[in-house]
Amino acid sequence: MVTETLPAAVVEALPKKGFLNIPVGKDVDVVAEINRLRKEKNAVILAHYYQEGAIQDIADYVGDSLGLSQQAAATQADLIVFAGVHFMGETAKILNPDKKVVLPDLKAGCSLAESAEPNAFRAFKEQHPDHIVVTYINCSAEIKAMSDIICTSANAEKIVNSIPKDKPIIFAPDKNLGRYLIKKTGRDMLLWEGACIVHEAFAIDKLLDLAKQHPHARIVAHPESEDHILKVAHYIGSTTGMINFVKNDPAQEFIIATEAGILHQMAKEVPGKDLIPAPSHEDNTCACSECAFMRMNTLEKLYLCLKYELPEIQVPEDIRRKALVPIQRMLEISKS
Ligand code: SF4
Repeated sequence: MVTETLPAAVVEALPKKGFLNIPVGKDVDVVAEINRLRKEKNAVILAHYYQEGAIQDIADYVGDSLGLSQQAAATQADLIVFAGVHFMGETAKILNPDKKVVLPDLKAGCSLAESAEPNAFRAFKEQHPDHIVVTYINCSAEIKAMSDIICTSANAEKIVNSIPKDKPIIFAPDKNLGRYLIKKTGRDMLLWEGACIVHEAFAIDKLLDLAKQHPHARIVAHPESEDHILKVAHYIGSTTGMINFVKNDPAQEFIIATEAGILHQMAKEVPGKDLIPAPSHEDNTCACSECAFMRMNTLEKLYLCLKYELPEIQVPEDIRRKALVPIQRMLEISKS
């Protein structure tokens, strides 16, 4: 239930801005207000590992794409506040058509999802009508609606292996994850040429220099990273898999090749270990790679979207219904 009314100018500006452009007074205790509002509205706050630390700390659940979709599928909340990027909010809405799903900033997109434009993808699919379409969850609702089954980095291998060996496969949109899966499963897959700007930014030369400076460090990488990074990694896996590896491996130092937000959760889980972000091509001050889209969400924007229940994620019903089928297939296979 929305209890506050908004100035008309703020509502009008919302589609262009992507978020509620309202100053939050210094006297507002944002954390206390979020805690009060989420109880009052029976809201759940779901946050991706790549969100800033303050958002991860206040979330009801922090996880990777698979964990977040499982939480979204199971929630009893009336309002879902999704602290992540647009396709994640869409996935929550596809699973919960009767619930309101809000995102702190609608412009928090994803370069990987945007690399699969629906019309171009439809044409590609039509050229290969006998192929099973396996799509990584980082894609729009429209692309999901054209897919046979969705996967995340946590379950991609299992999903590909669940497809009969005589069936040819299209894998989209991440070519790096696709190549990695071809190696792991031995399946010959047609790959869509998409990629994530954050994971493609890791510089192999700088990474090798860093590894020389830390000869005992274990290199841990996300499969969205390029092949040359994966070749030098000691462990390749989803964000949750990476956290578990760092927790269980006896090494003291780890170089982490994925979005830097994951370090917040890892540091909590393994307080005594040294976590070093893998360096990117750009000379940024923290020498690490952060996803600019994920960082568009802030604690203040999260507070405002919880308070006013805007901006809301909408998915046209015909697309939602079609997109639900491959997501449910994935959730089903992930249970076993
Ligand atoms: S890190 Fe890459 S794949 Fe993940 S949300 Fe950002 S742009 Fe998309």
